[in-house]
Amino acid sequence: MSNEALIGIVNNAALLLALGLLYDSFSYKMSDNTHLNKVITGLIIGIIGIALMFNSWELAPGVIFDSRSILLSITGLFFGFIPVIIAALMGSIFRIYVGGPGVLTGVAVIITTATIGLLWRKYRQKLKEIFGRMELYVFGIVVHASMLLLMLTFPREIAIEVLRNITIPVMLVYPIGTVLLGSLLNQQTARKESQHALEESEARIKDIYDNVPVGIFRTSSRGKTLSVNQEMARIVGYDSPDEAIKHFTDLGEQLYVDPERRKSFIEQLQKEGYVQNFEYEAYRKDGKRSWLLMNAKMSERTDNDFVIDGFTVNITERKTADFMIRESEERFRATFEQAAVGMCQATLEGKLVRVNNRFCNITGYSVEELMHIGFKDITYPEDLPEEMYFVEKIFEGKLKSYSIEKRYRHKNGNLIWIFVTVSLVNSPEGKPSYFIAVVEDISDRKDAEEQMLRARLAAEEANRYKNELLANVNHELRTPLSSVIGFSDIILSDMSDNLDEKQKRYLSLINQSGKSLLKIISKMLDISRIESGGMDLHFEKFHLDSTIEDVVQETRLMAAMKNITVNIDPNGDTYEMTADKGKIKAIIYNLLENSLKFTPAKGEVTIKARKNGDNMQVSITDNGIGIEEKDKERIFDPFVQVDGSSTRKQGGTGLGLMIVREYVSMHNGDIQVESEYGKGSAFTFTIPIRPDILQDRESCQQTQT
Ligand code: ADP
Repeated sequence: MSNEALIGIVNNAALLLALGLLYDSFSYKMSDNTHLNKVITGLIIGIIGIALMFNSWELAPGVIFDSRSILLSITGLFFGFIPVIIAALMGSIFRIYVGGPGVLTGVAVIITTATIGLLWRKYRQKLKEIFGRMELYVFGIVVHASMLLLMLTFPREIAIEVLRNITIPVMLVYPIGTVLLGSLLNQQTARKESQHALEESEARIKDIYDNVPVGIFRTSSRGKTLSVNQEMARIVGYDSPDEAIKHFTDLGEQLYVDPERRKSFIEQLQKEGYVQNFEYEAYRKDGKRSWLLMNAKMSERTDNDFVIDGFTVNITERKTADFMIRESEERFRATFEQAAVGMCQATLEGKLVRVNNRFCNITGYSVEELMHIGFKDITYPEDLPEEMYFVEKIFEGKLKSYSIEKRYRHKNGNLIWIFVTVSLVNSPEGKPSYFIAVVEDISDRKDAEEQMLRARLAAEEANRYKNELLANVNHELRTPLSSVIGFSDIILSDMSDNLDEKQKRYLSLINQSGKSLLKIISKMLDISRIESGGMDLHFEKFHLDSTIEDVVQETRLMAAMKNITVNIDPNGDTYEMTADKGKIKAIIYNLLENSLKFTPAKGEVTIKARKNGDNMQVSITDNGIGIEEKDKERIFDPFVQVDGSSTRKQGGTGLGLMIVREYVSMHNGDIQVESEYGKGSAFTFTIPIRPDILQDRESCQQTQT
């Protein structure tokens, strides 16, 4: 071994390390592991290799030694396939270009060392461990032992000469060079990894800072904004943190609705070093206001300034809800206090916990007194069982509320009637919480009801007496009257030959007066039966035209006496109907009788029956004295006779039309009168053809609604 060889080899290895350092500082910026970067790395390493070969130690002409073996093996080991191929190719081309007898061996060394590096990398990749110094040393020994073996490709003498000269320096220096270069790259890798980890964690923190749904800020105690995140900018209505930072130079004046609030915030920070759950109202960029909540702490302090770090959330919604709850509570309180009805709130056990003024008025107790008693104490004992029944139903969940009339014992001892509505109020979790009751003093109404009841009972009793009286009167009068009419009839027909004219006239008068008295009695009796509900309808099928005919026949004499023509309208409809025949006949009789009574001699009366849908319409028209407009309604009232003199002349009771209207309405019909005073009247009544029509109509209406 020559010193020259050792010096040459050390020199070259030193150059390699120097270039390695240069590469290290350059490649530091090439952090991306792209193909382009790999190609660039390959080219740079190729150039370094050429530089090494330029400064090689020459054993003999064309037999040169340099540290390319270290460079290429380490390149294969650290950078992988693409860079090492490019570097090896460049080195090989350059070696061939230099020429000499060592070309083949030189190129073989390049290919072999690069291949060992790659294979070692492949084997190592699976283990994923950082290269240790010992490993690198062993790697260097393997690479360079292989390199020395390749020297055998020289002719024997040259090989012996070469190995004699370089074995020791190579095996001494190159594995160490390999360790040093490998360590350099190891450090670079570690640096890159920690740099990468740092960048990643910074990016993560920035990501959190930008996206956290809480406004984060850093401000100065003097009111300048130093930094804010996106959410903080958004909370105060700005598009970006930069815009907000630029705008806020005096937070107290620009952000706080009440600048005094900012002052107390700063004071608190100075005193305690931190502020928790500090609420304030802030202006947004658009001038609208928001309620904000912040937590902050003093972080850096200078003589007269300090930095504040903190976070903010928008609590406007909560504040608005709080405000609305307060407002509704206030409204409820006012309603409760000022309600015109008594109101009270009671525990589930019935103890009163809240009462309003009106409740105190009703019961006579003060609020304080009522707070010590329960509703049972003021309820009249007899009324308690009914109430407790409902309370039980509420607890069983069968009722939500109940309303009852009951009695309270007033403080002064009097009983008062109240109408109370009690509801159970549940907690938000759905559990029974308390009772609320609305109480109305109904004592006056109860008194009035009682009086009305008494009056009704009295009226009913009076009516009963009246009906009894009428029945008696009817019986008592009918019997003697029947004798009067019957015997006067007999005398007039059988014994008229034995009577003189005067006696005959007197007897006829007795007979007629008896008959009209009987009529009056019958009508009065009818009315009393109608009023007491004792009058029923007896439905039957009949032809209306024959009924009309009958009535005309019965009144024939009356018409003949006044020479009045009674026409039955030939264009009228004849129709079979179902109704109470007797009452329909009475209706027509009364109306025809009135027409004959109130139509002067030689007058004319027309009866017309007409079918109108499901109804029968009968009108009796006369050309008599007529009825004034003002009397059209009241003639249907009992005992009303419009013109005293003419009716007295005509006779009558003033009960006929009342009975007519009652009969018509019992048939669910209706009666109208049209009249022109002095010219005549027309009475028209309408009743359903069959009673079931009305029922059909009603059920039809019900299904429609
Ligand atoms: P009255 O027995 O007196 O006829 P009504 O109740 O039948 O009792 O009639 C009441 C009053 O209505 C009659 O007194 C009369 O003044 C008036 N009135 C009834 N029908 C007619 C008519 N066709 N023309 C004019 N007035 C009539």
